Amino acid sequence: MSVDIFDKCKEFHIANDLKKAGVYPYFQRVESAQGPEITIDGKKKIVVCSNNYLGLANHPKVIEASCAAAKQYGTSGTGSRFLNGTNDLHEKVERKFAKLIGKEDAILFTTGHQSNLGALSALIGKGEVFITDKLDHASIMDGCRLSLGGELARFRHNNMGDLERQLQRYEDKGKLIVVDGIFSMEGDITNLPEIVKLAKKYNARVYVDEAHSLGVLGENGAGTGPHFGLQKDVDVVMATASKSLASIGGFIAGDKVIVDYIKHSARSLIFTASLPPACVGAIDMAIDLMIAEPERRKTLLKTSQKMKDEFQRMGYDTNLAQSPIIPLTIGDDKIVFQMWKMLFDEGIFTSPVVTPAVPEGQAIIRTSFMATHTDDHLNLILEKFRKIGKELGVIKG
Ligand code: PMP
Repeated sequence: MSVDIFDKCKEFHIANDLKKAGVYPYFQRVESAQGPEITIDGKKKIVVCSNNYLGLANHPKVIEASCAAAKQYGTSGTGSRFLNGTNDLHEKVERKFAKLIGKEDAILFTTGHQSNLGALSALIGKGEVFITDKLDHASIMDGCRLSLGGELARFRHNNMGDLERQLQRYEDKGKLIVVDGIFSMEGDITNLPEIVKLAKKYNARVYVDEAHSLGVLGENGAGTGPHFGLQKDVDVVMATASKSLASIGGFIAGDKVIVDYIKHSARSLIFTASLPPACVGAIDMAIDLMIAEPERRKTLLKTSQKMKDEFQRMGYDTNLAQSPIIPLTIGDDKIVFQMWKMLFDEGIFTSPVVTPAVPEGQAIIRTSFMATHTDDHLNLILEKFRKIGKELGVIKG
């Protein structure tokens, strides 16, 4: 007799084990708006794990723009972008985004994840190759897997020698180098200057996922390409609206011909409903605020540097961190869950990252910072990390 496909569900025990041990960290129920402080179970927590880098997710003007868009256009796009679901607000933010980052055209998908799925699977097919950084985001890997017949080669994280070896291996094929601008777990910046040089040498195209770099790097927060002055050498820019832009949605930008091709080929755009007006209205205002208030980005970068320095001074290993994402290497999964819980009980909300997301024994507490953390927030975060790190023997007493 065949096995019941639900056996694996019944045997799945990891979540229950953590719950029984009282250290289950996932699916926390937030009872307030997202900001540097939130409420969970009636208790205040300082958030150190949000992607709300510029602190715009509960900005009055963003909320107002979101409500106004819902009032004008209703609550739903009621269909695919491809058919009846495109409105003039979608096209307005596409033009605004393309102008901000310096590309001819852009298309707005319903999520960032879907934009990687759709664009990557559309761009590479049989006889062509994705060349990805081993630490690229999961949505990039998913997009590569959905390609019909495209090959996948991966190079060691930010290792340009290894990238060159892969480019040589596939010298005769069409190639797309795909990297995160800022890596989502490590918090480091891709080596775009070298990537661009190698892409030219081996006739490859370049795709940069700006999910964590939009709003953080470059003039006006326009991302990694502008940060290095190399945007003209980035062929395709992907960005999410779920982080600095205080909403949800994903952009793909590039030359008109590329965007037009993706608009007519990306299954995750064509076969899903469009981004609802309230979300598009929020993006529209968040881009304006991002440009009008550069001090948010400056504060964010200052905070990130201060926190990295302070963590290091305490004896934490901040790994590759170069951005508002600061991963602290702790070691064993068990200690990370325990540390997460102790911090949580003291009012500090972080993210534990364990195997298989990181190699065994190298589990991290991932911290990330926002422009709206106050000095009081930051000092309290440091105080708790000092106290709990010592108690657990993660840092020296
Ligand atoms: N790319 C990267 C690098 C990400 O970190 C994420 C989400 N964390 C995504 C893509 C997907 O974006 P979204 O959550 O907006 O769908």
